[in-house]
Amino acid sequence: MRKSKGKLFVFSAPSGSGKTTIVHHLLAQNELDLEFSISVTSRQKRGSEKEGKDYYFISPEVFKKHIDNDAFLEWEEVYKDNFYGTLKSEVNRIWANGNHVIFDIDVVGGLRIKSKYPERTLAVFVQPPSIEEMEKRLRNRKTDTEDKIKERVDKAEKELKFAQDFDVVLVNDNLEKAKKEACNLVKDFINK
Ligand code: 5GP
Repeated sequence: MRKSKGKLFVFSAPSGSGKTTIVHHLLAQNELDLEFSISVTSRQKRGSEKEGKDYYFISPEVFKKHIDNDAFLEWEEVYKDNFYGTLKSEVNRIWANGNHVIFDIDVVGGLRIKSKYPERTLAVFVQPPSIEEMEKRLRNRKTDTEDKIKERVDKAEKELKFAQDFDVVLVNDNLEKAKKEACNLVKDFINK
């Protein structure tokens, strides 16, 4: 595959929507040639997360240096004092490997990528069945404090309004069904 043929798959959603599970499922399908865009973040490592696998964990100072150097394709202060961003070099690295890029990023960042590469990007909004169900999933995850859960639920309520700006809305009321649908969406877009 030539570098210029590389596609971009954005999966955005409120946290607790099942988006990450769907992205992991897609990455396990070797024939799709997808590679995960590892974001940079200034937040603390959580649970079993690994440097250079889940994120590149950096200090807020280094993050600001990347902003000054125009190194980001997009970046966002997703939560107060917690910065997240996609480095241009990360996308180039994946394309140079001959793979398509898959992103697990927030709604605003996802739409920014779509606006930069409108033809090459499929932007998918993963919608939780309801805010109540999403809150339940976040609690079951047992990785966030009550304050963090509230912050994420508040953000989700705002994010749901952006669903209409995406190419596709994938409602995750049944995980197996959502995974299959996601696979078909990716295959169709690769073959377009
Ligand atoms: P978490 O802290 O749960 O890993 O991620 C919080 C939110 O930040 C999630 O919605 C996640 O998708 C989003 N996120 C992760 N990486 C990026 C990125 O590079 N850019 C943007 N805009 N959001 C990101």
